Amino acid sequence: MERIFYVNGEFVPADQAVVSAEDRGFNFGDGVYEVVHWYNYRPFLLEEHVERLIHSAQVIRIDLPWSKEELTEIALETAKRNNLKDDYIYMQISRGRAIRQHSFPKNVQPTLVMNPQPAAKPPEEVRQKGARVISIPDIRWLHCDIKALSALANILAKQQAKDHNVDDVLYDRAGVGVVEGGSSNIFYYKDGTLYTPPLSPYIFPGITRAKVIEIAGELDIPLGEKVFSLKEVLEADEVMLVSTGYEVLSVTEVNGLKIGNGVPGEIAKKLQDRYTEHVRKACYV
Ligand code: PMP
Repeated sequence: MERIFYVNGEFVPADQAVVSAEDRGFNFGDGVYEVVHWYNYRPFLLEEHVERLIHSAQVIRIDLPWSKEELTEIALETAKRNNLKDDYIYMQISRGRAIRQHSFPKNVQPTLVMNPQPAAKPPEEVRQKGARVISIPDIRWLHCDIKALSALANILAKQQAKDHNVDDVLYDRAGVGVVEGGSSNIFYYKDGTLYTPPLSPYIFPGITRAKVIEIAGELDIPLGEKVFSLKEVLEADEVMLVSTGYEVLSVTEVNGLKIGNGVPGEIAKKLQDRYTEHVRKACYV
């Protein structure tokens, strides 16, 4: 089936989905984005994602001409036109088209694109055995809390994982600690408590992270938000990466060293099972 994209007010086939070579998204990565997972033809946590998209745009001072309701409607219509079942809708807003100059142009209409995209689910084998990751120095900028288009350091990090034949990276920020996964948030479990770094400019405020914290509450799993080191990760009973695509993914090896007994743990399974229940309630009713 031909994929249909929404581009600046029109629905067009993928090969006609183009924006200007002077678009600031192309020139500077000047924009923001979101990825929403559809399950069984229905979106999961769409409202949260649209709200975050609007928030990200506000933070980088893009004035949006679309309301939350309009953005939601466009996302739903894009999914409908693509008969989207179990994949993503990618949403991207850039500051718009202007003569290339760093400071903000005046009176420019932001560019809005929405398109279907295959969901980045971990391979079944990785789900079963757990992910193998390496830690790398975090060379990203100091606004990792913004879902910015400009993601060069993230791309290089993910490629580094591929080059090392592992599944992902952990960003280790000098003077801070392990902050998150390559494109996911991190949790670890040790002696009865689940830990995750607190929200800060060093981490992305993942919607899945928030959901997992909510679920830990439902399951009476004690939660501690704290900054932690690579040593603490290596000594954990369980390590997990969470994101829209991963949901809750066990990490069983870091830098070639086994975590716990080297197989996915019980807590990750409990969290994943309850996450699946939330998806079922929202998308399979
Ligand atoms: N951290 C980073 C760096 C990410 O890129 C992502 C995914 N965009 C996440 C965390 C997880 O966010 P979410 O749960 O909203 O998918």
